[in-house]
Amino acid sequence: MKLSGKTALITGAASGIGLSIARSMAREGASVAIADINGEAAGRAAGEIAALGGRTLALALDVTSEQAVDDGVRRTIETLGGLDILVSNAGVQHIAPLHELAYSDWRRLIAVHLDAAFLTTRAALRHMYAGSTGGALIYMGSVHSKEASPLKGPYVAAKHGLLGLCRVVAKEGAPHGVRANVICPGFVRTPLVDRQIPQQAAALGLSEADVIAKVMLKETIDGEFTSAQDVADVAVFLAAFPSLALSGQSVVVSHGWHME
Ligand code: NAD
Repeated sequence: MKLSGKTALITGAASGIGLSIARSMAREGASVAIADINGEAAGRAAGEIAALGGRTLALALDVTSEQAVDDGVRRTIETLGGLDILVSNAGVQHIAPLHELAYSDWRRLIAVHLDAAFLTTRAALRHMYAGSTGGALIYMGSVHSKEASPLKGPYVAAKHGLLGLCRVVAKEGAPHGVRANVICPGFVRTPLVDRQIPQQAAALGLSEADVIAKVMLKETIDGEFTSAQDVADVAVFLAAFPSLALSGQSVVVSHGWHME
């Protein structure tokens, strides 16, 4: 098993991509803390993984709360015995053109994606530096870390920002054996995407089928959605990578939508 003896904290792990990563990391032997604002769903996910023999902890927390993030990291270390892997994954979407975007919605998206990445990073680094344990930090970027789409201003801005944060972590973390990388998925059929299909259809005056074929998957090489398992496989690979040779990078998993 690639992650035996390791402990991972995964935010937004009660659903979608985060849940797939939690399952995959547990299958590879990691203990996993499942952090989500939806505490009930986090509890269900932890129960499912525990039933398969994994060590888990459910954490009901809002990743934009400094206190909640610090407490969640502390509880993970106390309960599961350490912290080797952080996956900063929790996310939301908001569909609106910039000229109609409320400042409160701009700030909410930046907080969930970027402030939370900082808060979870800081809490993880403090532990990893103090114990000289090293570690792996993984940020859930997006093809929208590399490309822009209309109607997604704060999401695109925040996802681009994660690349900068990751590169700083790679430089500051290297002397402490800490690696940081970003995963950039194309569209994955999760609740986050299912919610935006009718919203994009209304905003663009298209059918839902056309939003999928002509907007979401238009630039892919095969018209296929990326799967949550594809993303989880990359997360396990990055978490298990044995050296600083792979740090400060972004890995695009998108059926060719974006090519580096
Ligand atoms: P999802 O809606 O299935 O899961 C997101 C999870 O984050 C939910 O369980 C939700 O409760 C949790 N969450 C939201 N706000 C939170 C907060 N403030 N504190 C704690 N938890 C919170 O969505 P998903 O598609 O699995 O998205 C996961 C990540 O992947 C996001 O960062 C998203 O931007 C990114 N991503 C998704 C896609 C895609 O096509 N689905 C593509 C690229 C990147």
